[in-house]
Amino acid sequence: MKRFFLFFFFSCFSVALCAQSAKLPIIGISGAHNSDGAALVSSTYINSVLRAGGVPVVLPINDRPEVLEKMISMIDALIMTGGEDVDPLKNYNEEPIPGLEGINPTRDAFDIALVKLAAERGIPILGICRGHQLINVAFGGTLYQDLPSQVKTGLIKHRQQAPSWYGTHRVELDKNSVLAKILSKTSVVTNSFHHQAVKDVAPGFTVTGRTNDGVVEAMEMTGNPRIFSVQFHPEAPTSHGSDELLPIFAYLIEMAGKK
Ligand code: MN
Repeated sequence: MKRFFLFFFFSCFSVALCAQSAKLPIIGISGAHNSDGAALVSSTYINSVLRAGGVPVVLPINDRPEVLEKMISMIDALIMTGGEDVDPLKNYNEEPIPGLEGINPTRDAFDIALVKLAAERGIPILGICRGHQLINVAFGGTLYQDLPSQVKTGLIKHRQQAPSWYGTHRVELDKNSVLAKILSKTSVVTNSFHHQAVKDVAPGFTVTGRTNDGVVEAMEMTGNPRIFSVQFHPEAPTSHGSDELLPIFAYLIEMAGKK
């Protein structure tokens, strides 16, 4: 009898655990390469997904269509991470200006294929920094290759010299945007680590946040805010323990569950 109860107890326990783990959405995080060519995702993205209740999975750069398909079929949501400049000639038909910095053609191709496939399959996407710029380019938009050399007047500092978790500029949010709803506010102080920015907004997208110099800091797909992006880095303060921007990841994970 005692043995039966023990068995009963452990059965219930494992069923409960399974039910709980089945609800945990898998969040694919686009990988970069480190200087040795190894797949790289900063722990700040991983920690933010963990804090928000998702399962972080690193997606290493590759150029195999069948592998990309399988990757997309395995994940419930996608985070496009920060990184190098986007190649202007290949991706939006502009000659490179002297202010352009390092580009990574292999990563560009992987990231663009990933974004397009995820959007086709209805997978929610959060773009961060390069990821935000990349989504814009993937859907037909263009970028400032180098803000300081292309915007001569009125620019505020977008490459902060402060800890990454610390906010240095204010972003004003459209009150109807998904971000304003997620964060329950229309003004947020964020960090800033970029010299490129969205120039021409891709058709089908709406700008939802700007700094006071007009730089695009947030966008969403018009009518489909399951695809949204930010120029700042919410994963830095979130990983550092702040709850202020954690709702961005919580929202992605909530949407992932509704695929
Ligand atoms: Mn900025």
